[in-house]
Amino acid sequence: MMTKNDVKIKPGKLFINGRWVDSVSGKTFDTLNPATEDVITSVAEGDSTDIDLAVTAAREAFENGPWEKTDARDRSRILLKIAGLIERNKDELALLDTLDNGKPINETTKADIPLVIDCFLYYAGWADKIHGETIPVRGEFFNYTLREPVGVVGQIIPWNFPLLMAAWKIAPALACGNTIVLKPAEQTPLTALRLGEICHEAGLPDGVLNIVPGYGPTAGAALAGHMDVDKIAFTGSSATGRIIMQAASKNLKRISLELGGKSPNIVFADSDIDSAVDGAMTGIFFNQGEVCCAGSRLFIEKSIHGEFVDKLSNKAASMRVGNPEDTGTQMGAQVSKEQFDKILGYIDTGKQEGAKLVTGGERCGEKGYFIRPTIFDAVDNNMKIAKEEIFGPVVSAITFDDVDEVVRQGNLSVYGLAAAIWTMDIKKAHRLARELKAGTVWINAYNAFDAASPFGGFKQSGFGRELGVHALESYTQIKSVWINLGS
Ligand code: ADP
Repeated sequence: MMTKNDVKIKPGKLFINGRWVDSVSGKTFDTLNPATEDVITSVAEGDSTDIDLAVTAAREAFENGPWEKTDARDRSRILLKIAGLIERNKDELALLDTLDNGKPINETTKADIPLVIDCFLYYAGWADKIHGETIPVRGEFFNYTLREPVGVVGQIIPWNFPLLMAAWKIAPALACGNTIVLKPAEQTPLTALRLGEICHEAGLPDGVLNIVPGYGPTAGAALAGHMDVDKIAFTGSSATGRIIMQAASKNLKRISLELGGKSPNIVFADSDIDSAVDGAMTGIFFNQGEVCCAGSRLFIEKSIHGEFVDKLSNKAASMRVGNPEDTGTQMGAQVSKEQFDKILGYIDTGKQEGAKLVTGGERCGEKGYFIRPTIFDAVDNNMKIAKEEIFGPVVSAITFDDVDEVVRQGNLSVYGLAAAIWTMDIKKAHRLARELKAGTVWINAYNAFDAASPFGGFKQSGFGRELGVHALESYTQIKSVWINLGS
């Protein structure tokens, strides 16, 4: 197994126009290991000047460079090669994300990296299958459409799945022939930089993919507001999504936003209870609860409530929380002190609101940002802990005894990212799948993902879809061509 000492962490620079460069200001910032609170390395800090340089490189590569003119099948080959190089470097990439984010190595190895590879493979398959249509129109005309890339795309990603979020954004954008400036989250810049290097090694021409780490209000804001960026794709909090939407209005750039959630996970008495308990565990404790589609509102039917909460709290209390590099660890560290404090603040709020703390509710250990898996029972859907996104390992259990009422309560949220239903009643499952206002509905499952299946939100969870054929729509635009066949 690879250890920290085997990973060659390079002094982080910006990756612009196929080269490693310092930021123009010369500034750097530290990226920390949240499990130890130690500095891993320092990284060049991009700001608006560096974003300008990166956008200029991406524009040049788009207008005059080879990428859009590259044969679609050759674009596909490069994406395949990127997938192959990620596979070859998978241990290093998994460990880098574990060190930078604090998530267990077992998860980066078994969930993040395979999904990243799949994402590049899947979009490699699309690159040469993106085409227009011929349309029967009135009159002596031949009409057809071309599906063209949008142009220079800005991508701003969060810290919870650093490499996977980069893959979800980069792979479809490249398949469609766009050029990219990507800003990773300031907490977790390392794998995005390494991916830039891998893409270059795979033969991606200079300027097609530029990676500029930096802070949100400086580098991120400069990218979102840039007059020469054609589209911005963002994943992160709803608050920042709002700011980005405003900034994007300056030049009316296209936007897609994948934002927060407060997803209902609904367990009926007629479900396979043990599977549902496992699903509730994954729903809230996977990735330390730092998941936008986390099942943070757990609705439990009254008749099984006692049994369910007992089973769940026993499992939660025995979770192995600790060193993320240890293969036996089930839950690692929260990404930052800021996030850690915010979660502990919500735990205090839950106690003050009168929710019943069943297990957890405190930090774990003396060093590192570890929090025990936390279950609040007797939660009311109107409490703050049931309304606001906590983005941590804290679940709010709410009891119900009526199907229509639980759907109404489940939908009573400004968010609509995901929902899950646990039942053996096939009619009820399909009926509720229609009635729940969410971009993803899982039936007898939680956190199932595939590069081929669309992901995105209803309501204030955002708009636009990532993954699947749907992502191609947001990275292309349609041109209608008319040919006069008359005299
Ligand atoms: P969090 O507050 O949990 O870090 P954010 O939504 O603020 O979540 O962060 C997600 C991404 O958005 C990060 O890459 C961050 O740097 C970026 N970001 C934050 N603020 C802004 C902003 N004002 N404009 C553009 N990007 C931003």
